[in-house]
Amino acid sequence: MKKVLGLLLITGFLAGCALNLVTGRKQLNLVPESELQMMARTEYGKFLTENTVLSPGSNQDAAMVARVGAKISGAIKKYYDAKGQTSILEGYTWEFNTVSNKEANAWCMPGGKVVVYSGILPITQNEAGLAIVMGHEIAHAIAKHGNERMSQAMVQQMGGVALQVGLAQQPQKTQDLFLMSYGVGSQLGAMLPWSRQQETEADKYGLIFAAMAGYNPQEAIAFWQRMSSAGGASPPEFLSTHPSDANRLKKLNQFMPEAMKYYAGS
Ligand SMILES: [Zn+2]
Repeated sequence: MKKVLGLLLITGFLAGCALNLVTGRKQLNLVPESELQMMARTEYGKFLTENTVLSPGSNQDAAMVARVGAKISGAIKKYYDAKGQTSILEGYTWEFNTVSNKEANAWCMPGGKVVVYSGILPITQNEAGLAIVMGHEIAHAIAKHGNERMSQAMVQQMGGVALQVGLAQQPQKTQDLFLMSYGVGSQLGAMLPWSRQQETEADKYGLIFAAMAGYNPQEAIAFWQRMSSAGGASPPEFLSTHPSDANRLKKLNQFMPEAMKYYAGS
């Protein structure tokens, strides 16, 4: 019986492994993106009611987040339209919100639901630094990295049931896994770091998106250096999900010439 179950799981794994158009890599995406987008709308709304949202009309930081978001989402649309890959953004209805929160964090749920915590702004320091962070988080969502993590968690922790079954039978656990998969933090506590490969992909496309939106991608180097030195005894939430090391800076420098071409053309 165990053997059969193992075989079923493996078959499910293979069936759920799809070639990702953004990354060009085979990824485990067991959950339909449309279902994750639906769950994201619910969780995003819940998060906004439970936190203090700053208004772009009266708060300069929130206005900056909205401005960067509009430019980056416009650039991304242009990028995939030009490649004839408009389907990558299917179901996206962008939202960019800033919450008053001393944590240094930012994330993007599927479907383009972005939150920036005010606590990260002293580290991003300027609009281009913010564009680096938002470009990076949006790249995680577009590359379906959250789906990959959610799929792995559903297999490892819930026996590979479908999302809808998980939501019906174990709503709290399913919700926690979702929040953890997207770097939101949850009642489960420990934050889950993105894999090195996911980080490299998000850095690469994040740089391109920020550059196309008119922001100097070279700001990424200074931002990640500031983020690393913000570590210490109680590292920012963002650093626990995005471990920074010399390898990241090396890769960023490798991607820079390509990103600079987009910057020059923006
Ligand atoms: Zn990341």
